[in-house]
Amino acid sequence: MLEVVGLVKEYKRFRAVDDLSFTIGRGEIVGLLGPNGAGKTTCLRCICGILRPTFGRILINGHDVVTDQAAAKSGLAFVPELPSLYELLTVDEHLRFIAMCFGTIEVYDRMGEQLLERYSLLDKRNELVATLSKGMRQKLSIACALIHNANVLLFDEPLIGVDPAGAHEVKSEISRARDAGASVLISTHLLDTAERLCDRVIILARGVKVAEGTLADLRAMSNMEGAGLEEVFLRLTSEAKPPPIVAP
Ligand code: ATP
Repeated sequence: MLEVVGLVKEYKRFRAVDDLSFTIGRGEIVGLLGPNGAGKTTCLRCICGILRPTFGRILINGHDVVTDQAAAKSGLAFVPELPSLYELLTVDEHLRFIAMCFGTIEVYDRMGEQLLERYSLLDKRNELVATLSKGMRQKLSIACALIHNANVLLFDEPLIGVDPAGAHEVKSEISRARDAGASVLISTHLLDTAERLCDRVIILARGVKVAEGTLADLRAMSNMEGAGLEEVFLRLTSEAKPPPIVAP
């Protein structure tokens, strides 16, 4: 379970995320949507402990990301937009290393082969990560996230650079994780995918949450009966106010 309570993140005097609160329960996929610069990546980086919140609390399975970091991170997997991988390990070594770091080598022994096959990386298992294409790197990054049994999964633009078969597999994998009880947060600009994959969405604009709910909720909120997510999104984000400037 993921709980974000009153999250504020300031870069010097600029408030990139302003008083953001939401909860993702077990077995839910939530889309984090917003125009460029809305604060999505900042929010994800705060949740996974890369950035320290200026104010607010983030709890992963009840553990505070700032004050109880090890316990919080043991249940968390983050797939960043640009995978950061160990270039001089082979694909197989990389997956095994991540499994060992999280004490889940038995999962690797049981599932490593299956994951490599699922992401079409079986024939690359003995190649160096440095030789992989962009899409293959993304698939390996996702396989690494899934091998350590996390139940809070964060994805930043997971489908960018992945081919159609890989994208289909990633979406199926995300749905499988949800069905197994994971709490999933996906930042994406692909509104069609969000509409099909997510149980509900959170829309950020200029650092502020402008809407949260199912498509039906958002339609009702914006008086747009029968509209698709794209139309509703454009309406809701066009009404957002300029970013707040913080007093020095
Ligand atoms: P995109 O969809 O373009 O990836 P985003 O919603 O992920 O955007 P963020 O990357 O979180 O947005 O950025 C939110 C705001 O914070 C932007 O105005 C950005 O310029 C600013 N910002 C992000 N990182 C920093 C930083 N390290 N220092 C100063 N400002 C930053």
